[in-house]
Amino acid sequence: MTAAATDTPFPTRVLVVEDERKTRDSVAEGLRLEGWTVKAAADGDAADALLERETFDLVVLDWMLPDRDGLTVLRSARTNGIQTPVLMLTARGALDDRVTGLEAGADDYLAKPFAFAELLARCRALLRPPILGAGQLLRCGDLQLDTRARVAVRAGKEIPLTPREVDVLEYLLRYQGQIVTREMLEREVWKQTQRVTSLDNVIDVQLMRLRRKVDGDGAEKLIHTLRGLGYRLGKEPA
Ligand code: CA
Repeated sequence: MTAAATDTPFPTRVLVVEDERKTRDSVAEGLRLEGWTVKAAADGDAADALLERETFDLVVLDWMLPDRDGLTVLRSARTNGIQTPVLMLTARGALDDRVTGLEAGADDYLAKPFAFAELLARCRALLRPPILGAGQLLRCGDLQLDTRARVAVRAGKEIPLTPREVDVLEYLLRYQGQIVTREMLEREVWKQTQRVTSLDNVIDVQLMRLRRKVDGDGAEKLIHTLRGLGYRLGKEPA
């Protein structure tokens, strides 16, 4: 088990990009059995759209796709600042291709055909602890959250938070700089798997309250609402 898998109460989110249905389905199914949340894309366009709108902990990316190759998807993701670890899948075994893939920003490379156990081992190895998760202290600017003590501090002053607010803040901090959708919060913080009634209003109110506590007192705004998308925690771009 990696630190990422044990330190966080949130399921690992993986994107599987592969046009061959059999491979895509079996990889997705196998990873779901690990308890991971898996989304799948069958072509480059679908992969781009998901990468733009959602946040993942890992991408399993096939090289050969019908519209454009995985390398192009990878390059554009890296150009857009997406730092998610990427495992490239390919039938190509040539050293040149491997070097090209790694240079384009892939973190590892697995040649087809592969055994699922091998894929899983590579995936686990790539699930690094969250970038900011050095120890149990999550930080953004002068905001800190000790996830073990469940205490948040801004500019040296403790912020009184409810347990739910601590959960939400931890989630936003772990995915800081990235879009966190209401759906992600609903599923992974509220643990609501069946959408009987939408929690959107509950989440919005909760976030408003959290923002007042975290960003009150004229402090720099760290929690941002992205209309129609969700929320993002981070410093405003300079
Ligand atoms: Ca393919």
